[in-house]
Amino acid sequence: MNQYNDCYYCGGTVKETNSSREIWWKETLYILEKVPIGVCLQCGEKVLKPEVAKEIDLILKEKNKPHKIIEVPVYEYERAVA
Ligand SMILES: [Zn+2]
Repeated sequence: MNQYNDCYYCGGTVKETNSSREIWWKETLYILEKVPIGVCLQCGEKVLKPEVAKEIDLILKEKNKPHKIIEVPVYEYERAVA
């Protein structure tokens, strides 16, 4: 089952995978797991179907209890000089 057009960039075959997607929304990082995302087998370009993008919007707006919450370590690239 392949509902994707060939890759927009390189013409390669786009195959659907279930991947995680990170989304920054209103300064909060959300991670969605098991999102059906098309990935070009040739160049790795990711393609999101419009209905999937819409569903992600809904999930973020509904703000139901998340599946889980993880901690994310944050570093600054530049080391602080004491
Ligand atoms: Zn491609």
